[in-house]
Amino acid sequence: MKPTDSKHDWSSPATGLQHAGKQFRLGQGLIGATESSVTFSTPKIEDTPVYSRLGNTTNHFEVEELLAHLHRAPAAIVTGSGMACLNLIVMTLLRPGDHVLVLESCYGGTFQMMTKIFSVWGVETTFAPMSTWEKHKKPNTRMVLFESITNPFCEPQDIGRAAQFAKTHKLISVCDNTFASPALCQPLLHGVDLVFESATKYLNGHSDVIAGMIAGSNDLIIKLRGFHSYLGTFLPPYQCMQLLRGMRTLDIRMTQHSKTGLAFAEAMRASGLTDAVNYGVETANPASGYFTNGYGGMVSVRFSKKVNVKKLLTLTRLVTNVPSLGGTESTATMPAFTTNWFMTTEQKKTFGIDEQLVRFSVGLEGAEDIVQDVMVAAKASI
Ligand code: PLP
Repeated sequence: MKPTDSKHDWSSPATGLQHAGKQFRLGQGLIGATESSVTFSTPKIEDTPVYSRLGNTTNHFEVEELLAHLHRAPAAIVTGSGMACLNLIVMTLLRPGDHVLVLESCYGGTFQMMTKIFSVWGVETTFAPMSTWEKHKKPNTRMVLFESITNPFCEPQDIGRAAQFAKTHKLISVCDNTFASPALCQPLLHGVDLVFESATKYLNGHSDVIAGMIAGSNDLIIKLRGFHSYLGTFLPPYQCMQLLRGMRTLDIRMTQHSKTGLAFAEAMRASGLTDAVNYGVETANPASGYFTNGYGGMVSVRFSKKVNVKKLLTLTRLVTNVPSLGGTESTATMPAFTTNWFMTTEQKKTFGIDEQLVRFSVGLEGAEDIVQDVMVAAKASI
């Protein structure tokens, strides 16, 4: 598939962000109404019923058109959460006995879903670095799954390599693009079959909606829609409108997140209080062009042993200790206690999750204020 957006031909992405999904409403509101009725009568008795759970109100269509446009995809689905996306993809495209290769550095919820839930349904998973996928591939492998920028380590991945591996072995490639958003990375343009995101994060961007999205070819999205109607993975119309409103400012937010994220990462590297700072170091040659507008606001920092990190996170005054990310305000979390809490000590050791690791979501405040906030708290925690 060569992803295209056949509906629109605006030259600037900024125009698409404002106008994709908008219906022309002569004599009506500039912004569409939120459909609060769960159902609607249809012009003809034999027409497809309109019912919110089927995701077929105008609010769903508006947000989905914009999502498809942002990923240069033929089609997209909006869902009730990022986890709903993974659920929908696995339930629709895999069957008991199938095997999935997942990049070993991944969101804790993905790890839990594959090991605790889908294993019960007979779907087997191997977590492995991309460089070892060839070795771990089995005759029943059907899918590869990876994050374009990993959670919690914030490492930008070689998207083309994953897509090519999948093509060579006739597997479905799925990319979780939550940390990048389509403003920084459009995985479908690099050969991936399906992209999904927790829209709760950067797409909405204001920490007030739980949502998800999937984009891809018409064929795949039609298959997913068949299951979507029955799995109850829909997003209610009011949240569609909230998400649409958040998304209209995605580009300018992500441009600023990238600038502030970089300044914060550089300050942490120079602080003398950290052993490792992961931000913007690509596993592929950056000339591959997978990331086009910086790396956003997610920065992973391993503080040196002398810093008591638990104390640090109680002393910051601007950076709030919460598990979510991608909002306008800066937040931070210790993955050992949040995203990866359930791992055994042994698993945490293997995956590199320890009590010196903090995942920062750098917001839209001034970089110098965020750096000062963290530095004052870190020095007081030695
Ligand atoms: N994927 C990634 C990379 C995430 O960070 C998250 C949540 O933090 C999810 C998926 C799940 O998203 P949601 O919380 O919207 O279900």
